[in-house]
Amino acid sequence: MIIRGRVLHFLEEPKTDIPEGSYEYIEEGALLTKEGRIWEIGNYQEIRTKYPNFDVMDHRNDLIFPGFIDLHNHFPQVQVIGSYGTQLLEWLNKYTFPEEAKFSNKAYAKVQADRFVRLLLGNGTTTSVSFCSVHKDSANALFEEASKHNMCMIAGKVMMDRNAPDNLIDDPKSSYRDTKALISKWHEKGRNYYAISPRFAITSSPEQLSQAGRLVSEFPTCYLQTHLAENEEEISYTLSLYPRSNNYLDIYRGFGLVGNKSLMGHSIHLSPNEIATLKDLEAVAVHCPTSNMFLGSGFFPLNNLIKSGVKVGIASDVGGGTSYSMINNLDAAYKIQQFLKFSVKPMYSFYWATLGNARALGLEKEIGSFRKGNFADIVVLDTANDICSEIRMKTCKSLTEELFVLQTLGGNHSVKAVYIAGKRLK
Ligand SMILES: [Zn+2]
Repeated sequence: MIIRGRVLHFLEEPKTDIPEGSYEYIEEGALLTKEGRIWEIGNYQEIRTKYPNFDVMDHRNDLIFPGFIDLHNHFPQVQVIGSYGTQLLEWLNKYTFPEEAKFSNKAYAKVQADRFVRLLLGNGTTTSVSFCSVHKDSANALFEEASKHNMCMIAGKVMMDRNAPDNLIDDPKSSYRDTKALISKWHEKGRNYYAISPRFAITSSPEQLSQAGRLVSEFPTCYLQTHLAENEEEISYTLSLYPRSNNYLDIYRGFGLVGNKSLMGHSIHLSPNEIATLKDLEAVAVHCPTSNMFLGSGFFPLNNLIKSGVKVGIASDVGGGTSYSMINNLDAAYKIQQFLKFSVKPMYSFYWATLGNARALGLEKEIGSFRKGNFADIVVLDTANDICSEIRMKTCKSLTEELFVLQTLGGNHSVKAVYIAGKRLK
């Protein structure tokens, strides 16, 4: 198949005001996809002449961009998004835990997984890193739905054995056993990867974190996802539960949970020691901007982390987050950094949600750019798809400016089509 349009993707992290060399943009462009992969990228007429028998999907005038990657979200919160008036710990107890308890029912989990996957795809997110509920079958339901669409899914059932309602609690042994069974069923099967998922230190006993560490050492190709330093009240409660740890990250480090496959959601209120540990152990600090604003959690220290050499990712954190759209989350990230007097460059933003997140996962040879051989996971974006954007776009003088306006005014409505492994979905 030939996919025609204004092709844009990133080759490197854009580091300066004029990010020449970090991206490739072909105004009269096209991608040639074959067997679900990117086969060729170039000028439309040249590709058309070379392959006259291929079907053409004509998106001229639209941006052809790698599908977005969402590095942290919660599939059982598809009906928790937009819950009023609380901050993290109260929000969990009041809204999230009662909803997650319903996922003990596999049929219910399947309905929600179908909705969740469709919402991701409809927003142009083609790779997702997701927490499931404590129930093994919630993870089965999500992997089954993602597999139907052949999307790249990284997920795991949460391990939680305390400080939650009885119907949401496992125990160290059963969480080890269930996780191990899910790993053998789903990890590296099709486009799925397993993420070992102790929810956070508050809901895991030392015995359970120790079992999680055992899983990490037994299955080193799996990811590890958890939450870190999101909210000040959460941090002091956590440290009271682990009084012998020097800091929050040290709890996870002590159980062998911090390494180059570890995705540490939020990572807002970090000490210099924790920042140094994240860097040294090559763990990823995952920013969840709409969630941080919605729950009043705090300002992610992006510039400090980048300067300190920490790998950073970006995510929606639905349902604490308020939008599935990575465009909306980039917009929120920009606004948060404005409070810290740091203006995130639009080129960096769009790099971040694609190749940047792919690199954070170590999957840059599969997703995140139109590198030859990568999966043809594509989002087609109309940057002037509403009246406000259309009027504003008339004054745009550069690609950078166009991307910034897209980030600020765009969202779900900017997504015209989505391709997963070369197959058109929307
Ligand atoms: Zn989260």
